[in-house]
Amino acid sequence: MGNIIKVSGPLIVAEGMADVKMYDVVRVSEKALIGEVIELRGDRASIQVYEETAGLGPGEPVETTGEPLSVELAPGLIGGIFDGIQRPLNKLRELSGDRIGRGVNVPALDHAKKWHFVPTMKVGDEVKNGDILGTVKENEVVEHRVLVPYGKSGTLVSISEGDYTVDETVAVLKDEKGEEHKLCMLQRWPVRRGRPYQTKLPPERPMVTGQRVIDTFFPIARGGVAAVPGPFGSGKTVVQHQLAKWADADIIVYVGCGERGNEMTDVLNEFPELIDPKTGEALMKRTVLIANTSDMPVAAREASIYTGITIAEYFRDMGYHVAIMADSTSRWAEALREMSGRLEEMPGEEGYPAYLSSRLAEFYERAGICKVLGGAREGSVTAIGAVSPPGGDISEPVSQATLRIVKVFWGLSSQLAYRRHFPAIDWLTSYSLYTDRLQAWYDRKVSPDFAICRDAAMRMLQEEAELDEIVRLVGVDALSSQDRMTMESAKSLREDYLHQNAFHEIDTYASMQKQYGMLKLLLDFHKAGLVALSKGASLNDILRLPIREAIGRSKYITESELSKIEELSAEMNRQFAALTEQGGAD
Ligand code: ADP
Repeated sequence: MGNIIKVSGPLIVAEGMADVKMYDVVRVSEKALIGEVIELRGDRASIQVYEETAGLGPGEPVETTGEPLSVELAPGLIGGIFDGIQRPLNKLRELSGDRIGRGVNVPALDHAKKWHFVPTMKVGDEVKNGDILGTVKENEVVEHRVLVPYGKSGTLVSISEGDYTVDETVAVLKDEKGEEHKLCMLQRWPVRRGRPYQTKLPPERPMVTGQRVIDTFFPIARGGVAAVPGPFGSGKTVVQHQLAKWADADIIVYVGCGERGNEMTDVLNEFPELIDPKTGEALMKRTVLIANTSDMPVAAREASIYTGITIAEYFRDMGYHVAIMADSTSRWAEALREMSGRLEEMPGEEGYPAYLSSRLAEFYERAGICKVLGGAREGSVTAIGAVSPPGGDISEPVSQATLRIVKVFWGLSSQLAYRRHFPAIDWLTSYSLYTDRLQAWYDRKVSPDFAICRDAAMRMLQEEAELDEIVRLVGVDALSSQDRMTMESAKSLREDYLHQNAFHEIDTYASMQKQYGMLKLLLDFHKAGLVALSKGASLNDILRLPIREAIGRSKYITESELSKIEELSAEMNRQFAALTEQGGAD
């Protein structure tokens, strides 16, 4: 037990703390506010307090719990809405009303609820950490796999089906020394430590999102890392909702570090209303939300991102593919900056601590696809971090540090959003470093021709940008018919392909087959147009072909009617043939 000697906002310094360890959780003052040791010098500990510290003063006691900041992992996580230190928001509200009271200590999960446990192992089985002991149906959508905790192995001496709370013993294991260990469904894990796995695997398949601009041009691998920097109103929220709904991930973890209260309220109101298109159920049935409400001081933001990724890793270990979204990592970095300032550390760029990049890297490095402990299961965590640079200027330190780490960058552009081009992902500035690695998958699962189409389309868009310059300088008349054809085709690419209405029942999602079909149609039209031009057809006649409009509407073809794309292709060939015959006759 130590004593406070200094209070500075969310940071307190206490002495008499010789026997605490770094990152131990402590209880501060009579109010038992939750804090975490972030610096130790002799018997003095600097503690970041996750709750409002107003009214605290020197002399008040600080008590250590002897444990690092940990999360509870067990059935009951799914559908949960937690704060940065995994306190369930609804319980907090019940206890203390809309403004969260101080020193409220509530367990993260419901310890009274009974879950029906069905063993997958039997007495006499040799088990080791990571093996699946049994399953619990958490809800209609998610099967919770109960794992042998890390560090435990031996022979099962008892295990039986039944209804258990998370603390009750579901199985007993005898280790090599003959000692018995009771296993319950609940595991605790320190948030700042990545959960172990067997081996990381190379990212080889994309996380298909159904969003054309992403899947075709800037794909993210399963287990990959991406950043979405976006100025306000550029459609960041819609992009995240689309990813949460459509990405082929089993579990979604959404970490919100909102600054203004209403930002988070939006998430808390909107997310539970989203419907999961794959199951028709609420999306919350496979989602865990971590939300920092505005009542929580900055320090809690720092923890939330670790809480989120630890939960994501836990589901990964069950063999699930998890997508974690952190919005926004800028707010999180600001929390780091504030604490660093109060610790009087040497500031780096713009006052951020010098360890900003390594902390960011620590977060993103916990993403990945891996062979998990226990059996031959694969699981993945795909991390998507939103960055909200002030004024949309990505030259600031947080964006720059993020860009050095992530492999995919979806640059949302306010200009595109202003022109109502959604998703406003700028095709000229965005990139994905996974494209080459994923090539084999696309060749196999989509078409060997897909990469060729994608490259041709990207070239066309870049050419358009160059031609645009010329048009601005000397007018469209200076362009050859071929160049004008390119401009027109690029326009179709933008308006008919890249533009995707998240709120349209059919357009909201496009499978890879549909994406490929549409892309090929657009490019074939371009090719046929150039041929027709060379045979003497006029550009206007080409652009007036009725098939053009039909191609533009191909985004509204449903997934079950994709053969219509081939019909369009045949019709296009007929129309071009007729046009060049005509042209030849003139
Ligand atoms: P931000 O979170 O960046 O402030 P939002 O995601 O709330 O911005 O988007 C702002 C508005 O842009 C939305 O209300 C919506 O009308 C429009 N919008 C964004 N993305 C799309 C999309 N893919 N399809 C249609 N409309 C979109």
